[in-house]
Amino acid sequence: MNLARFPRRRYTPGFTPLEPLPRLSAALGGPDIWIKRDDLLGLAAGGNKTRKLEFLVADALARGADTLITVGAPQSNHCRLTLAAAAKEGLKCRLIIEERVPGSYAADALGNNLLFDLMGVAALRVVPLGADLAAEMEKDAAEVRAAGGTPYVIVGGGSNPLGALGYAACAAEIMAQSFDQGVAFDRIIVASGSAGTHSGLLAGLVALNAGIPVTGINVRRPRAEQEGNVHRLAVATAELLGTPAPAASDVVCLADWVGPGYSLPTPEMVEAVRMLAAVEGILLDPVYSGKAMAGLIALVRDGAIKAGEKLLFLHTGGSPSLSHCDLSVSATPSYSPVSS
Ligand SMILES: *Cc1c(COP(=O)(O)O)cnc(C)c1O
Repeated sequence: MNLARFPRRRYTPGFTPLEPLPRLSAALGGPDIWIKRDDLLGLAAGGNKTRKLEFLVADALARGADTLITVGAPQSNHCRLTLAAAAKEGLKCRLIIEERVPGSYAADALGNNLLFDLMGVAALRVVPLGADLAAEMEKDAAEVRAAGGTPYVIVGGGSNPLGALGYAACAAEIMAQSFDQGVAFDRIIVASGSAGTHSGLLAGLVALNAGIPVTGINVRRPRAEQEGNVHRLAVATAELLGTPAPAASDVVCLADWVGPGYSLPTPEMVEAVRMLAAVEGILLDPVYSGKAMAGLIALVRDGAIKAGEKLLFLHTGGSPSLSHCDLSVSATPSYSPVSS
């Protein structure tokens, strides 16, 4: 795998920390749990989209773009970070907000929505769930062109093969740190949404012949649908890299912690967010990393993850939306059994 062949902007100085979580490990009485702190990536408030944007924005600049256009849900971390990258590069940024939960977008909300305004979004409009997002972004692109500009459209979550290279790079970073710090992981757990993070990580680990399984924890979609999405994108990413394609059997996306739906709170998420904050001083988020950590906690408690394992949790960020979220849902979880 030779990532240096691909143009890249740098938004994070060096590697993000790879740290043990001794107090969480003790609290759960199970495996030795470590964390990859991608919540500390560069650009405003960090998070996983920063790695994807390093490759996507480099491509936009190479094509002479002056305006980035993308789409996300209300409180989208991806929209916040695309806007931050645009500000840093002196580009304009237009956002389309897909209202996945009707009535959930409020322009005056705190969290990421506040940051859209603060970082000077050039245009923002809201479309309902089910809108043709590619067509909506193309409408904005046409407007930019009509005004003499050069648009660059970034797919939701930055999850195409070019964006997923950011997580192939993260796989290489984890392997270097794992060797340097003398810790060999048995498994990596990550939130699985628009699939670029999970797919890129998997493509990178397979390219490096790491032999470390990845367990995705879904935040929106049913298991089979998400596994199909992740596998397709992982294969396309490997093709771009010129490396061996991940097998369908390498893709695991557990859907047991989505709860009532995307972005809707669950007692298990609330418990996970509170536990990480209280025992390790680490802030998760309610939509992604909180549900992924809820999955990790349940898999440990259920014995699906053995006490002797070395487990790496990939923290994908998102804490800005904590200030906007409802943590009042009972923190006494009732676990659903781990289904296959
Ligand atoms: C977007 C996002 C994810 C999911 O990553 P995908 O690449 O979309 O699967 C996880 N955590 C946070 C905080 C995110 O913003």
